[in-house]
Amino acid sequence: MTQAVDKSRAWFDRAAAVTPGGVNSPVRAFNSVGGTPRFMVRGEGPHLWDADGNRYVDLVSSWGPMILGHAHPAVVEAARTAAGSGLSFGTPTIGEVELAEEIIDRVDPVHQVRLVNSGTEATMSAIRLARGFTGRTKIIKFAGCYHGHVDALLAQAGSGVATLGLPTSPGVTGAQAADTIVLPYNDIEAVRRSFAENPDAIAAIITEAAAGNMGAVAPHGDFNARLRDLAHEHGALLIMDEVMTGFRVSRSGWFGVEGVPGDLYTFGKVMSGGLPAAAFGGRSDVMARLAPTGPVYQAGTLSGNPVAVATGLATLRAADDEVYRRLDANSQRLGALFSEALTKAGVPHHVAYAGNLLSVFFREEPVRNYHDATSGDIWRFPPFFHALLERGVYGPPSPFEAWFVNAAMDDAAFEIIEAALPAAAQAALSAEAARP
Ligand code: PLP
Repeated sequence: MTQAVDKSRAWFDRAAAVTPGGVNSPVRAFNSVGGTPRFMVRGEGPHLWDADGNRYVDLVSSWGPMILGHAHPAVVEAARTAAGSGLSFGTPTIGEVELAEEIIDRVDPVHQVRLVNSGTEATMSAIRLARGFTGRTKIIKFAGCYHGHVDALLAQAGSGVATLGLPTSPGVTGAQAADTIVLPYNDIEAVRRSFAENPDAIAAIITEAAAGNMGAVAPHGDFNARLRDLAHEHGALLIMDEVMTGFRVSRSGWFGVEGVPGDLYTFGKVMSGGLPAAAFGGRSDVMARLAPTGPVYQAGTLSGNPVAVATGLATLRAADDEVYRRLDANSQRLGALFSEALTKAGVPHHVAYAGNLLSVFFREEPVRNYHDATSGDIWRFPPFFHALLERGVYGPPSPFEAWFVNAAMDDAAFEIIEAALPAAAQAALSAEAARP
């Protein structure tokens, strides 16, 4: 089976001449799976079309934002209307207030928000605010959690940093990394020890509310509640990074699933409906420390951009209970299909869920942390991925990313996945021959 990819290949060559690696975000380059990244030209509902005219069922959903599927009429209309009224004013706008109100209405522990342009900016700002509020410098993060490309948070990060196998990044200074304490995810004793070893020094714990960047790894038992207790016992803040889970795993994100309140939250992806916008927010006494009410500086020329705010609002307003029911059902249906095909082929695997985020790990034991996530039969992933891709199923091109369903997936989309899976499972099985 050979799919035509001539046009994508030609564009990738042109792209590589003008952009490092031909991409604007590393995982898109297919480095860990090999082959030609597809240049997508159109999306509608559950499908994407590439430059060669191939159609795919999209199981990446733009890495999370597109919960309604592509080109949802209400979202596209909101973008058109907003754009028709002017693209950016650099003044307060009504839509910003409405989007902030929508977020606050959905996530109880969030009393105020500040809009920014990316998840990276959200976590960077939340950390500066936590340091400014507590007057402390150190931050605890967990190995395999990714919080954007903030200097201090790249240590043992997930997502593309894991895909490229980087311990951290050149360019991050020793001073920037020195204030970051990296601990194993789901290990509360390590957190307790760290507070004991660093008295009055830790400003915050930052954690993915449920990890999605080393594959989907849910917090085990009462891990998040214990993090909050330990943070508060020691005068630190808990930053819940819901950039990936926010408004995807429930209408209130992971908070809606688990109910453990953080002090600060970061959001992105779904809340902007696919345009660049993100947010951080939380307790009003902490948010009051932010400029212009407080001394902690944070700003942005395009923050609260009217078109991004309009698509975010339209997405959240369309994301009703039925959408969340469909997302959950689609995730379970996809996971069951993965399991059925891999079991039939005799491939050792484990389908893991964090809410409706899911991942296929090529090991049978459950995954609790980054060490587990990286110690399966990872070499089975590239052939599994490519067999699906060739058959019109677009999954994440890395074993360390979650698979993102959307609410537009219908029976026809699932039939395409079901038809592709036996060959993908077989490819994963026969990868044994290529084992290093
Ligand atoms: N935090 C989490 C949990 C993420 O998954 C991501 C991106 O995937 C980020 C932060 C960074 O967001 P962005 O890529 O918008 O900078």
